[in-house]
This record gives sequence, C-alpha cells and structure tokens, in this order.
Amino acid sequence: MEKIFNNTQVAFSLKSDTELERAYFLFKLIESQPLVRIGTAVTNFALKAHLPVEGLIRSTVFDHFCGGINEKDCLSVVDKMFTKGVSSVLDYSVEGKEEENQFDAALEMTLKTIEFAKERLAIPFAVFKPTGLGRFALYQKIGEGKSFTPEEQAEWNRVVARFDTVCKMAHDKDVAVLIDGEESWMQDAADDLVTEMMRKYNKEKAIVFNTLQLYRWDRMEYLRKLNAIAKAEGFYVGMKLVRGAYMEKENARAEEKGYTSPICHSKQATDENYDTAVAYMLDHIDHMAIFAGTHNENSSYRLMELMAERNIAKNDPRIFFGQLYGMSDNISYNLAANGYNVAKYLPFGPVRDVMPYLIRRAEENTSVAGQTSRELDLIKKERARRKL
Ligand SMILES: Cc1cc2nc3c(=O)[nH]c(=O)nc-3n(C[C@H](O)[C@H](O)[C@H](O)COP(=O)(O)OP(=O)(O)OC[C@H]3O[C@@H](n4cnc5c(N)ncnc54)[C@H](O)[C@@H]3O)c2cc1C
Repeated sequence: MEKIFNNTQVAFSLKSDTELERAYFLFKLIESQPLVRIGTAVTNFALKAHLPVEGLIRSTVFDHFCGGINEKDCLSVVDKMFTKGVSSVLDYSVEGKEEENQFDAALEMTLKTIEFAKERLAIPFAVFKPTGLGRFALYQKIGEGKSFTPEEQAEWNRVVARFDTVCKMAHDKDVAVLIDGEESWMQDAADDLVTEMMRKYNKEKAIVFNTLQLYRWDRMEYLRKLNAIAKAEGFYVGMKLVRGAYMEKENARAEEKGYTSPICHSKQATDENYDTAVAYMLDHIDHMAIFAGTHNENSSYRLMELMAERNIAKNDPRIFFGQLYGMSDNISYNLAANGYNVAKYLPFGPVRDVMPYLIRRAEENTSVAGQTSRELDLIKKERARRKL
C-alpha cells in the first residue's frame, strides 16, 4: 500500500503558520509528563477558585482540541474541514455527571446534534457515551448480576428510555449514531442495551453503532457471537473499532481486586486483535459497517489494503475512518484527499465542563508512546517545507 500519511502539505493545509506554531507549542508542553501534571493541577485549582483562566484555556488547548462551546459554535470548524473532505462527529464532551437533570440535558444535546447532522452532509454521525445518559453504578450493578431496588429499576427504565429516544430519532432521521465504549465493569450492561437498539433500529442498515475495544482479549469472541445473533435475527451490526482508552485503570482495578485483567498481555497482542476484528468485519461487510477509530498508521494502512484486496470502493458508505480533532491530521486529511470516508470527533461544551476531556487528551498524548513525537516531527517537517 502506497504510504500516504507523510504528506504534511495535505495534512496541515487548513492550518495557518500561527496555528501550526500553536500546535507545536502545545505538543511540546504535552510531551513533558511533569508539565502535564503541574498544568492539570494549576488549571483545576484556577477553575475551582473561579480565576479568570477560561479565556486563556480557550485560546490554547481548548481551540486546538475542541470545536466550540456549543454545537453552533462548531460550525465554522465543521465547514472548514469539509472543504477538504473531512467530516465531523459533534461530541458533547461533558463527562462525569451523576444527576437526572444532567442526563436529560445530555439527551437533549444528543437529539440536537442528530437534528444538526440531518441537515448537514458534513456531519454523518451523532455520538454519545452510555454514562452520559445514566449513572455508572447502575450499569455496573447489572454487569455484576446484582438486583435493583424498585427505585433503581425505575431509574434504569429511564436510562433505557433515553437510549431508545436517541436511537429512534437517529433511525427516523437516517443519521447513524456511535455509542462510545467505557470501562469493562460497566460495559456488559451497555452492550446488552446497544444490542437491543441494533435489533430494533438496524433492520435496513447500520444506524446504531456499538464500540469494540480491542485491547480486551475477549472482544473477538463477543463480536463472533453478536454476528451469529445478528444473522439469525436479521439485523445489521454497526461497530466502532478502537483499541481502548482505559488501560491503566483496567489493569490497576484487576490487580487491586485480584481478577485476571481484561486487557491483552502486550501492545502487539492488542494490535493483532485490532487487525483481526477489522478483517472479520470486512469478511461480513454485507451486514456490517465499520467506524475505524484509530490514530495508528499501520491499522489504517491495513484497512486500506484489505478494502483494495476485496474490491471495496474507497468511499463505500459502510466504512469510515475516524480520528480525534486536533490529533493525527496527517492520517485524516491524507485519507480524505485519497477518497476515503473520514470523520473527526469534534468535542464541544463549556470550557469548564470539557476540562476532564482535555486533561485525558493531554495525559494520553504523554503516555501513548511515540504519538506526540510523531505530531512534533510532522509539524517540524511542514515548517521546513513552508520555509522553502
Ligand atoms: C474517533 C475515535 C473514537 C474513540 N472512541 C473511543 C471509545 O468509545 N472508547 C474508548 O475506550 N476509546 C476510544 N477511543 C480511544 C482509543 O481507544 C485509543 O485510546 C486511542 O485511539 C489510541 O489508540 P490507537 O489505535 O490510536 O493507536 P496506538 O497508539 O497504536 O495504540 C495505543 C493503544 O494501544 C493499547 N495499548 C498500549 N499499550 C498496551 C499494552 N502494553 N498492552 C495492551 N494494549 C496496549 C491501548 O489501548 C492504547 O490506548 C477513540 C479514538 C478515536 C480516534
């Protein structure tokens, strides 16, 4: 497969020199673990103390990784990216809420993004997090096989109703919806609920997408079983394929509680698991759809290769590549320039509320080996090219 991801002219075609410098500065900061730790602590303190730091956050890290403070605010970014063929997934990135009115607010916001997507070619998917619509502890309790009190049962019924409202609207408006994957000890309940939604709303095509976290060694077995159920019952399987974002937390919990970690024993095993899932889904693409959420160049090349081998068109609507806004533009923009379907998650929300998301991005960029240095190398290469 021709190597296309090193073309920095395409990758950064939308970035002005100033924006390129800001990106360099940010990734340079993020490269340093102590700086990320100090920066996180200072920012959290400043926000709690109501110091006027939101403007500063907004013009630096926020604008690099987020589209805006609300969905309308994102539109200029959405339109700009789409001029290069890169689509957006508006991601309401307010996390860690635990109250009913907050779940209802997240529901309303998700419905709004579906309406928004319906009107715009540039937004092919909506997205939400299971714990955005219901309490983590409820999912966990189901996963552990514990029974609910009558109050909890009523609360869970409301979670199910919120899922159904989103997926029904997605179906009626013909906008696909991605449902994020989270920690393994809540995921079983989410999986069952998402499967129920697929059963109901994926009869004609994949509208509802679950997430498969391939750092889990049990996920291929899960996918095969789901495929058998889908085939027997006649529904489509939509799946976002990712490696998984909670590795440290998963391993630490397993060790603390003394059970076998659900995470693959090595990075290589995770990579192989990812490739196996991609190939498996392509083998069953007649009733499946893939959203490959990855910043890994090899995985992206592998998917491109497999599509070519199977004579699947680059812009086949059943296959999307996905990256996060502010990261791996070299993959997104070069894929789009070569005719593939690409959508970037575009997080939005009030500055204060998306801080947990931003902190995770900073920590991930510090911990995922090679990712930040790759971003820095690409920016340096582009700077040099522009000077010439
Ligand atoms: C569009 C998009 C949507 C996403 N949605 C979700 C989501 O819903 N849920 C979610 O959990 N994550 C999600 N992620 C994050 C994703 O799971 C990864 O954390 C992130 O993308 C880094 O993985 P990678 O495939 O890009 O590449 P790489 O940089 O090649 O892989 C890094 C990943 O490999 C795994 N890994 C690293 N070291 C080891 C090891 N020693 N043993 C085993 N495995 C290891 C970890 O998962 C780590 O994050 C999403 C990412 C994208 C781009």
